[in-house]
This record gives sequence, structure tokens and C-alpha cells, in this order.
Amino acid sequence: MKKLIACLLLAALILTCFAACGKKEFTCDICGRTVREKPHKTEILGEEAVLRERCYKEIKEMRDGFNDLAGTFG
Ligand SMILES: [Zn+2]
Repeated sequence: MKKLIACLLLAALILTCFAACGKKEFTCDICGRTVREKPHKTEILGEEAVLRERCYKEIKEMRDGFNDLAGTFG
């Protein structure tokens, strides 16, 4: 019986690890928050940055907006 519990615990541990491995904990280069989600790699002012989903979208929208603006004047 003890063996079974040990096995279940081990299985749970492995599953947790697998779930966590896909979403590595990292610190967002924009807001400095430590999050556990899919990181987005991008380049900001020539430097590589790792952003969380939310900040990545904001940067992307900002870039798209800038490109639209540049397109208007260019
Ligand atoms: Zn952020």
C-alpha cells in the first residue's frame, strides 16, 4: 500500500514537472514581473528581450501603430 502511494506521488510529481517545463518561469523584460507562461522573444532597440504575453501584445500593437504612422508620413 505504501508503495502505491509512493508511485502516485511520483506520478503527480512527474506530471507537475511536465506541465511546468512547457511554461518556464521567467522575468519579463518590460514590467519586471516573474511569470510562468509561454515567453515571447523579441528585439527592443536592438537588444533581445523576453516578454510575457501581455507585454508582448502591447509592444506589438505599439510597433504596428508606429508602422502605420510611418506609412502615413512615408
Ligand atoms: Zn511584462
